[in-house]
Amino acid sequence: MDRRTFLGQLASMTVGGAVVSACGGTNTTEATDGAPTAITTKKIRWRLASSFPRSLDTIFGAAEYMADRVRAMTGGSFDIRVYPGGELVPGLQVLDAVQNETVQIGQSCSYYYTGKNPALAFDTCVPFGMTARQQQAWLGEGGGGELMAKVFSDFGIRSFPSGNTGAQMGGWFKEELGGLDGLNGLKMRIPGLGGDVMSALGASVQVIAGGEIYPALERGAIDATEWVGPYDDEKLGFYKVAKNYYYPGWWEPGPSMSIYIGEKAWASLPVTYQEILKSAIHEAGLEMQRRYDARNPAALKRMLEQGVTLRPFSEDLLAAAWDASNQILEDYAAKDPGYAEIYTHWKASRADQFKFFATAELAYANFAYPRG
Ligand code: CA
Repeated sequence: MDRRTFLGQLASMTVGGAVVSACGGTNTTEATDGAPTAITTKKIRWRLASSFPRSLDTIFGAAEYMADRVRAMTGGSFDIRVYPGGELVPGLQVLDAVQNETVQIGQSCSYYYTGKNPALAFDTCVPFGMTARQQQAWLGEGGGGELMAKVFSDFGIRSFPSGNTGAQMGGWFKEELGGLDGLNGLKMRIPGLGGDVMSALGASVQVIAGGEIYPALERGAIDATEWVGPYDDEKLGFYKVAKNYYYPGWWEPGPSMSIYIGEKAWASLPVTYQEILKSAIHEAGLEMQRRYDARNPAALKRMLEQGVTLRPFSEDLLAAAWDASNQILEDYAAKDPGYAEIYTHWKASRADQFKFFATAELAYANFAYPRG
């Protein structure tokens, strides 16, 4: 059968209720829910607004990777153009841009939008929350995703977890901290709930955009800053002006990045493209994590060769931070029943995860990591 005859036969044909485009559609396959659907070559072009700059080639790079995979799997028919923060919309307005249909798809962190709903923090991470694997398990299989979907439905958005930095570092301090007392009056750049906790512990918290942190640290306008981890931190050069590199970043033990898709945009996709996009989002999330895990060790080694000293936060600081963090979450839960429902579920899941990870994973790490 030649192509024209075949397409002619397809013209009046739909499969499983899915739209078969006029310019293609040659086969049936199965969506992951088992429903039959049609392969299509429908031309679709979307724009993705990211919150992140191109220089974060781990995070922003994962959005480009996702778009590349979608193009490859659709023979170029589904084309997602990826734009860095500030190019289409300001970096912290990506959720708004997807909600109001300025763009069909966005890449962001939900904890940027806690002003709209404090419970959005659980989609990313909260201080002393779960690690990357634990957060992925809670969102993907542990019931957290369903709870977050209810929050996102208020915005007309579908949110997909897509990548994680892994446990972040505590950041760069010009002077050695000592213990908890060292935070008194310390001027530190740290946004979000981590900043609220540091403030409760006596620090003078500053919120400064990425590009302005280095000069502020260099001239002493701030005494300390956190960012991400070795690979990203090295690029901003903090090690040149602050030699004490503290850990862990207990406020971000496993922040999960999100891909947002507007409900209308999602519904407009052929089912085949929805399935391809879901797979590409998932794959890009794995790509982000493996880039971090592959690049962080080498970056840390390079910076240690430049005279950087690794320092753990003291026990008294960590204990006070744990108490202050829990108090902040409890206070939100007391004010907001919707928040309380998610917090209660999340807290029970965290307890279960911590108990399990405290066995084989922890015993292995404690013994083997220092010896490797
Ligand atoms: Ca951080």
